[in-house]
Amino acid sequence: MTTLIFTHPDCLGHDTGPGHPERPERLDTVLQVLEQEPFRRLERRPAPEATVEQLARVHERAYVDAVLAAMPETGYARLDADTLLSPGSRSGVLRAAGSVVAAVDAVLGGEADNAFCAVRPCGHHAEPARAMGFCVFNNIAVGALHARAQHGLTRIAVVDFDVHHGNGTQAMFADDANLFFASTHQSPLYPGTGHPEERGVAGNIVNAPLPPFSGSVEFRRAMERDILPALDSFAPELLLISAGFDAHARDPLAQLQLTGADFEWATRQLALVADRHCGGKIVSALEGGYDMTGLAEGCASHLQALMRAA
Ligand SMILES: [Zn+2]
Repeated sequence: MTTLIFTHPDCLGHDTGPGHPERPERLDTVLQVLEQEPFRRLERRPAPEATVEQLARVHERAYVDAVLAAMPETGYARLDADTLLSPGSRSGVLRAAGSVVAAVDAVLGGEADNAFCAVRPCGHHAEPARAMGFCVFNNIAVGALHARAQHGLTRIAVVDFDVHHGNGTQAMFADDANLFFASTHQSPLYPGTGHPEERGVAGNIVNAPLPPFSGSVEFRRAMERDILPALDSFAPELLLISAGFDAHARDPLAQLQLTGADFEWATRQLALVADRHCGGKIVSALEGGYDMTGLAEGCASHLQALMRAA
């Protein structure tokens, strides 16, 4: 079978204002990668808008309503210090979350082995009732809870290799022993969470913080020692990946020293675990990545590994 791509031009219309790192150019960069061989032959599908019901599985309903009511007709509306909405944001943020829902449907429906959602804004900092760190709705968590509600899955895992800790996903998963969240991230760094002692109700949260200037060796050691064995014993029925590429050495927001080869390796290792437990079913969604060369390299490496696993 194959790797499916979910994306939508409306995700370019979410305007975060001049000088903002989470900018439309990021998605343009990923779309350019998708135009290259061997990715241009992958089937693209339009990302649909998530419904309020889908969002409200992980967010408080009042928060969802407040975000939708805050959409400005002109200018910007500010949800937190660095999370803004523009007139084009409504469709963009809804499709970013809806892409993961549609990708889950396609992969669990047997239409593809795995899928990648080329969308923005990112989602993993968004908490049940709070926008944070460029994130409005928690795209990956919305997809995870959709898999449970609509496809009857029980055990769902998210692995997050974005350079920042996915505090939002952790907050949504920590109290549910059948949801697993594991993260490698730089520490200290925004948002300041993600310590190893944050373990969830049943060891279902695994945090592997890495000091600034850690590189390939430290990253791979953390994956092999902390994350892959825990994921293996959790035995997920579906694996989701929060695929941020801001741990790339070129990224301006952090100081980890990863290369494309590290993202390819990590994706391959995750795919091997998914092969053992869930027939290789993986849904991955774009999170961060703020240097355009690093983002393109990371994304291409990740996609290559997904295609090879399919
Ligand atoms: Zn990040």
